[in-house]
Amino acid sequence: MSAAETAEPRVLFVGGLGRSGSTLLELLLAQSADVCAVGEVVHLWERALGADERCGCGERFTVCPFWQQVGEHAFGGWSAVDRDDVLALKDRVDRTRHIPRLAKNSLSAEQLADVRRYADLYTRIYRAALAATGARVVVDSSKHASLAFALSWAEGLDLRVLHLVRDSRAVAYSWGKQVRRPEVVDGEDFMPTFSPFEVSKLWTAQNAAFHLLAARAQVLRLRYEDFTADPAGTVRRLREFAGLPDDPEALSILTSGDSGSPRPDLAPSPPAAPFRAHSVAGNPLRFSGGPLTVRRDEAWRSRLPRRSRAVVSLATLPFRVRYGYLGQRGSDESVEKS
Ligand SMILES: [Zn+2]
Repeated sequence: MSAAETAEPRVLFVGGLGRSGSTLLELLLAQSADVCAVGEVVHLWERALGADERCGCGERFTVCPFWQQVGEHAFGGWSAVDRDDVLALKDRVDRTRHIPRLAKNSLSAEQLADVRRYADLYTRIYRAALAATGARVVVDSSKHASLAFALSWAEGLDLRVLHLVRDSRAVAYSWGKQVRRPEVVDGEDFMPTFSPFEVSKLWTAQNAAFHLLAARAQVLRLRYEDFTADPAGTVRRLREFAGLPDDPEALSILTSGDSGSPRPDLAPSPPAAPFRAHSVAGNPLRFSGGPLTVRRDEAWRSRLPRRSRAVVSLATLPFRVRYGYLGQRGSDESVEKS
């Protein structure tokens, strides 16, 4: 067995509510050879194994050579995985409603066996991804707090959690828009949309959960607004958190002038070299190529209807105060001063 086989695999788990910039952050981290970004493993069972959706490389899951190698190494082939059994296990373990139980110091023997078996599926995938790529850290952008809690019960996993937060009003605006899912191979499908009030509940619950998780795992908090103001500095900080040395070369993908300019978009600029990772599920951005320009997306300021804004502002007040998302101009003050 090689060192990679015996050592505890190290995972940087990107947590928080979706539409907080995790895909862009993942793409940036994946520029380094010692980082392997695999997308949102939590959706692998249904979307990749079940529906054979496209990997970030453009191939269907069943023909992507990377994922075939991972399946072989982790389970002796994906056909050895009983998907229905995994989905039933997932339902017993990895749900937001189970978080209060997973946050306790002890579980019943049955619950412990379930959560360990569930976490072991992920640990095997992480170990296989590291073996396949020679990377030192795998990035899983699954985001759900319930999975992070389940992983905190894993045996033989070096878990580091990044808690990504973004102004609730920007998140609410984003979840109200229709976004097509490019990984769907047959027909057309859209990402779900949520009302401002639903987003407020999800935002508060997810963020509260990651504060609770800090008692069980290493958790680093990062604001989307600080990330977009200083992408290079953010990558340095995250690499340090993941126990990796500085890798300034990897940031050459960033185009110049990405210091948080107020342009209301956040998108890779066209066209140039292929830039693709083997990632399952997640944001459509992972299918784009070329250099990256990181800009803070501020569209919500002019486009989120006044009534929605009032609902979200009130319903998320406690954590907005905590994260510094205050006033009419939201978080600008602290970011633009620096
Ligand atoms: Zn692939």
